[in-house]
Amino acid sequence: MLKYTDYDIVFQEIPDETTLAVNLSLCPNRCPGCHSPQLWEDIGEVLDEAALDALLERYGSAITCVSFMGGDNDTEEVDRLAQYVQSKGYKAAWYSGRRQLPQKFMPEHFDYVKVGPYIESLGGLDHATTNQRLYRIENNQLVDITERMHKK
Ligand code: SF4
Repeated sequence: MLKYTDYDIVFQEIPDETTLAVNLSLCPNRCPGCHSPQLWEDIGEVLDEAALDALLERYGSAITCVSFMGGDNDTEEVDRLAQYVQSKGYKAAWYSGRRQLPQKFMPEHFDYVKVGPYIESLGGLDHATTNQRLYRIENNQLVDITERMHKK
């Protein structure tokens, strides 16, 4: 089960997309220096098709992409809901804090995926030193676009 605490329209997290970023709780990763430790808790509302429908109805054509920010507690549910988002005509993105994607990761169910825990000394995706990687998925291949996130 996934739960979300809040959401926002963002422009930086996924290049060239207007993204509805949905912040998920129940994060199991416990990164030291985590920017949002409240997301470790069992808080928020269940994220399912009905909740997504309500958000998509509200934002409609104002967005091009939906990004699941977290969800490492139930990666199969992220996969299922990503397919749902794609079936509605939106791109699907996932920000995972794991070191590696799940063995069952299905690239065709996503358009973008970020992987890697937050390591304070290396910085986030906007730092050239970051350990994290952002990929665009093209023909089921992961294309590394991390450099586009670095501060100029
Ligand atoms: S994955 Fe994100 S939310 Fe989870 S502990 Fe790491 S920084 Fe915090």
